[in-house]
Amino acid sequence: MATPGGPRQGNFPPNYNSNALANNMENLQINQSNQQQSGNFGGSAYRPPNATPFGQQPPRFSGSRPGPPPPGVFLVGQSPPSGPAQTTFSPSLVSARSTGPPAVTQPAFFASRPPPPGASPSSIGGPATSAPSGFGPRPGPFPSSPLTSRPAFPPHMVTSGPASNGSPSFTPVLSQDGPRLPPAISSMPRPLVGPPQPPTMLSSGPSSQTLQMHPSFGARPSGASSAIGQPAPPFSAPPQSMIPPPGSLPFSAPQGMLQSSGSPYGMQTWPPQPQQVSPPPLVSGHMQQPQMFGMPPGPPPLPNQSMALNQTAQSKINPNQIPRLTSSSGVILHETRQGNQANPPPPATSDYIVKDTGNCSPRYMRCTINQIPCTVDLLSTSAMQLALLVQPLALPHPSEEAIQVVDFGENGPVRCSRCKGYINPFMKFIDLGKRFICNFCGFRDETPRDYHCNLGPDGRRRDADERPELCRGTVDFVASKEYMVRDPMPAVFFFLIDVSMNAIQTGATAAACSAINQVIADLPEGPRTMVGIATFDSTIHFYNLKRALQQPLMLIVPDVQDVYTPLHSDVVVPLSECRQHLEILLESLPTMFQNNRTADSAFGAAIKAAFLAMKSTGGRLLVFQSVLPSIGIGSLSTREAEGRTNVSTGEKEAHKLLQPADKSLKTMAIEFAEYQVSVDLFITTQTYVDITSLSVVPRTTGGQVYYYYPFSALSDPAKLYNDLRWNVTRPQGFEAVMRVRCSQGIQVQEYSGNFCKRIPTDVDLPAIDCDKAIMVTLKHDDKLQEGSECAFQCALLYTSIYGQRRIRVSTLSLPCTSILSNLFRSADMDAQFSCILKQAANEIPSAPLTQVRDQATNVCVNILYSYRKFCSTVSSAGQLILPEALKLLPLYILALLKSRGLRSDGRIDDKSFWINYVSPLPTPLVIPLVYPRMIAIHDLDEKESDDSIIPTPIPLSSENITDEGVYLIENGEECLIYAGDSVQPNVLQKLFGISAVTEISNQFVMQQQDNPYSKKVNAIINEIRGQRCSYLRLRLCRKGDPSGVAFFSYMVEDKMGSMPSYVEYLIHIHRQIQNKMP
Ligand SMILES: [Zn+2]
Repeated sequence: MATPGGPRQGNFPPNYNSNALANNMENLQINQSNQQQSGNFGGSAYRPPNATPFGQQPPRFSGSRPGPPPPGVFLVGQSPPSGPAQTTFSPSLVSARSTGPPAVTQPAFFASRPPPPGASPSSIGGPATSAPSGFGPRPGPFPSSPLTSRPAFPPHMVTSGPASNGSPSFTPVLSQDGPRLPPAISSMPRPLVGPPQPPTMLSSGPSSQTLQMHPSFGARPSGASSAIGQPAPPFSAPPQSMIPPPGSLPFSAPQGMLQSSGSPYGMQTWPPQPQQVSPPPLVSGHMQQPQMFGMPPGPPPLPNQSMALNQTAQSKINPNQIPRLTSSSGVILHETRQGNQANPPPPATSDYIVKDTGNCSPRYMRCTINQIPCTVDLLSTSAMQLALLVQPLALPHPSEEAIQVVDFGENGPVRCSRCKGYINPFMKFIDLGKRFICNFCGFRDETPRDYHCNLGPDGRRRDADERPELCRGTVDFVASKEYMVRDPMPAVFFFLIDVSMNAIQTGATAAACSAINQVIADLPEGPRTMVGIATFDSTIHFYNLKRALQQPLMLIVPDVQDVYTPLHSDVVVPLSECRQHLEILLESLPTMFQNNRTADSAFGAAIKAAFLAMKSTGGRLLVFQSVLPSIGIGSLSTREAEGRTNVSTGEKEAHKLLQPADKSLKTMAIEFAEYQVSVDLFITTQTYVDITSLSVVPRTTGGQVYYYYPFSALSDPAKLYNDLRWNVTRPQGFEAVMRVRCSQGIQVQEYSGNFCKRIPTDVDLPAIDCDKAIMVTLKHDDKLQEGSECAFQCALLYTSIYGQRRIRVSTLSLPCTSILSNLFRSADMDAQFSCILKQAANEIPSAPLTQVRDQATNVCVNILYSYRKFCSTVSSAGQLILPEALKLLPLYILALLKSRGLRSDGRIDDKSFWINYVSPLPTPLVIPLVYPRMIAIHDLDEKESDDSIIPTPIPLSSENITDEGVYLIENGEECLIYAGDSVQPNVLQKLFGISAVTEISNQFVMQQQDNPYSKKVNAIINEIRGQRCSYLRLRLCRKGDPSGVAFFSYMVEDKMGSMPSYVEYLIHIHRQIQNKMP
């Protein structure tokens, strides 16, 4: 029995044990060799369990999954114990609605069916070449905790040796015998306003029309320490002490130090953090001393500024020498606080490992500025946004310490009795520990008697380091009774499948059934996991899955205007009781409906009926939809046709198509949310389905939209299966509610993401998972004290998939400043851009596109203008000066303007999907969405593989594309492989098994060929899939057809129609700034 308030003994939720999860994920890797190849830690961490090798089709369920099948499962292809599955189902099943409780007439059994002619559901979309390896032991519903007694470092790391899979360790090379990091470093005082960051300047003298590029502006050779020679960063220890010159360093290889064996915690010492000093290097050259290209030697520019550009020198600018994202190799080790000060986080896109030393990990909460402006005026002057990007259940790095669970017993966690803020490391205990001061509202509260503890000489509680809630930025509290209005809900998964004519004929139904059939094996065992299934066309068909029945029983709901659900109790049943029936049914469905001639879809009625079936418990409704809903409640019209002309002519009413057609689905969605039903939509279609109207349902209920257009029965089932698998197996919570609290002076302005909001302060999340982020914009309501800290706390109350009620509390405390240049110095590029992207996406449906684009550019101009006017000492009007931390802002804004959402062309559904995709998008995926990663893969065969599995990215300019080359580009959502016209035939043969580019078809399914080159490319794609937690839709592209156009549309640095090139855009921005200058 845990003592009240003590660290919880046992019962750690298995699905949130990051290390257990990580182990599972690693076990799932099929290509073990890929893992070992990867060598360094880079990027191999986040690996969805579905990360099947690239090009593979969904694995057959038939015994290819290593290890025994879960109990109660018989394998597809084997005879079910209860006799052969059957085929034809009798058509005479329609029930008329009767008065009183819904009753079903004419229950009919499936008749038996001969073995299908060569097509089992799992063979649709191609057989698997190999299956994902087992998911590891499936945790029981209430396992005991692996963390009962807290290990010094994650158990996972203890066993990981050099050959361990996926989590190569990265103790510094010399650490075995070498000196340890001097302990003094972590406590070294650091100036709040540190020595300036070095500016990187690209400029030309006012008198010179020629812009000369400084040769050293370019990237240093990768691997060289980018920190060497770097002036001291704003927040951290002086770099000279952190990063002595090579040779004198106790840990050799500042960046590449992460490759030898051992734990990340370096035998319990925390290795130095070479890259976390100040925002880590993002852009080549920023470690250089002030560079005034083409400028006569003059006074050095102010710290912190990045680039100057002579607007008249346009033609002379070398596009290779303007700010760009460079990939950082190696893993960044990040302590969230050092020397009792907040440490600015590494870029969201970098590979980093966090040690929570009081502030929460940036994975869970990231602020757009890492110092908080004391006044609203200061914030407005900066023109920057103040917002938090929260992702409360984000997937941790496998090497990070698991979040600890704290049980305060019946009384629940200690909270401020005034503002209800949760106990955290920044609440200050006073009066010998008898009272504490809330860091949010300032209230002096009594310490509960059983939580009392004496203070040490430093004023901290003597037990502070032993209590996670007093020394960690993130903890999970066990929720006491007062946090429950009912018992924690079971894990309910309801599958709703479109069986209308179109869905059947395109293979979408078969693909969905196959995917579900394989995925149910991955659902948690135990009595708390419930499932249900229904199909729909112009009517809705439920299936009674009760074990007592010989065969699943079909129950038809014909009324699609006033919907009801038959047989509440037998439609949603424990998985353990119906696994067998479910499998038979899923195998039979495509054949049962193979001759269906009903083209209509009663989507709205179907989700309503499924909702009614789930209403008593709540749960997750997974809908597979292929056509535009045409009848019943929530039916829609093909308004795209009417609007298409408007779109192509760029008329200002075009955006109306991005507003839902009517309110009926929204009204339903709000009701769903109220009963804790969350909806995910898998849209497998070849036509317009009005995603705008449909997506209201997932957006309001904490779900998401998956989009397969144009659906291909050949290449899409693999992605569908993998998406579904990750969807149901990823860390997630149900019936959640979230609130963010702020210190006095700041308050939440607005939440943005996929949720339902019924009261102003909280967001309701029928479901939330590790991939969902919520943007929280902030506003001042008072002045903050210079020198104080402002804290933010995100509390998420949720039910785990195993039925535990938890409160995940993440706290971030940041310094307040009244100095404008501090704001620019501590700006977080990724978070800033996240904010701009999400706000633009929110704007698209309600404003003309040109206006949205202008707004984005204005945001950029205003920020840079403020910096230019108030912070820059460079007086030449011919120079564009960028703050170091935001030097990539113009590039990303330009990329945003050219993104699918903000371009004038394109299909309405594509645009709508993009808007939906952005809404819950986690920060690490924001920049890749607009500025994808491109790598060359034609020369990999010859290249020795270095430590990084993924080659160095190339800037997105067509100048970098040759006809002899093969390139891969990925944005976290899709992956295009482009082959130029003159690629060596042996490259094509080895990679794709074709002899000429002309053989590339648009229904390409990439297979792994039996040669090292192909395996290497497979390994890269697997690595990317793991990093992105996304299977990525793969397309092969060639010049001169639409696929090539799609590929080149990602070359965002090029001029595109009326859209400027990167250099032109910089000049445009510069002019705008000049126009504003007094
Ligand atoms: Zn308070």
